[in-house]
Amino acid sequence: MKALVKEKAEPGLRLADVPEPAVGAGDVLIKVLRTGICGTDLHIRAWDGWARQAVRTPLVVGHEFVGEVVGTGRDVTDIKTGDLVSGEGHLVCGKCRNCLAGRRHLCRATVGLGVGRDGAFAEYVALPATNVWVHRVPVDLDVAAIFDPFGNAVHTALSFPLVGEDVLITGAGPIGLMAAAVARHAGARNVMITDVSEDRLDLARKVGVSLALNVSDATVADGQRDLGLREGFDIGLEMSGRPEALRDMITNMTHGGRIAMLGLPTEEFPVDWARIVTSMITVKGIYGREMFETWYAMSVLLEGGLDLAPVITGRYSHRDFEAAFADAASGRGGKVVLDWTA
Ligand SMILES: [Zn+2]
Ligand SMILES: [Zn+2]
Repeated sequence: MKALVKEKAEPGLRLADVPEPAVGAGDVLIKVLRTGICGTDLHIRAWDGWARQAVRTPLVVGHEFVGEVVGTGRDVTDIKTGDLVSGEGHLVCGKCRNCLAGRRHLCRATVGLGVGRDGAFAEYVALPATNVWVHRVPVDLDVAAIFDPFGNAVHTALSFPLVGEDVLITGAGPIGLMAAAVARHAGARNVMITDVSEDRLDLARKVGVSLALNVSDATVADGQRDLGLREGFDIGLEMSGRPEALRDMITNMTHGGRIAMLGLPTEEFPVDWARIVTSMITVKGIYGREMFETWYAMSVLLEGGLDLAPVITGRYSHRDFEAAFADAASGRGGKVVLDWTA
């Protein structure tokens, strides 16, 4: 089968012929229809410092996908050939304290699909049935392809109750945009999002934010004033991993404000801890999705009319992966999807 492979410890990816994956007794074999390109895939393609320590070659990359079940191992009873499925990209151990307590997203031994084992940028992928999400209501294929990052957005946005609250989102990349749509849909009062890309801020306006602020020429305090806030934001969703974004967020939170932090900083940086203490701010780190509470929420939000269409801005054949990756790496658009049937 064809697959996008990191063959050697150097930059780049290749569309190569590799064997079809083996299917264990508890596994599901899936014919991949569409996949989403993630920041993780960009790191692996660029072969940066993170990728060098996280990845062993050769590796089939990719973890965001939708596909059709074409086979099941003998122990799989509740998933059938023909089911339309997406996959949870974190494979957990099932044995640690958190796994046994049903908090699988907190597993200490998580293995990433397309990072620690062969992934989904391929014509077929095999996955444990416990990691497979069956779409039981009709769903757009491009949206189904990005359920994994959509889950990051939902897990972050719904970390704290936000009905009637004023929400600040720093970073209007695909996950920030989806989180904005979710916050809006779930009943936040104001949703303000910041970025330095006007293209991405325009996408944010399409998903219905109250204010899309370019922080290269205005401050978060200016935004607060424009929205008529008097005491600061109730909820912060940090999506950029940038030091200045988190610092700005902390400065602009109300007393007792709550911050969910998904953006992954590349290095240590100082923040105003005294402010966190005296403003009594909660900071919660987010990694992945709750299995499978977040997945239920995702399906239900879409059934309830949440529209993610504006977030998907690039669609390519898998054969044009170089152009697709360049698009995704540009930092200007939304989500980029590869079609494995064209
Ligand atoms: Zn991803
Ligand atoms: Zn575990």
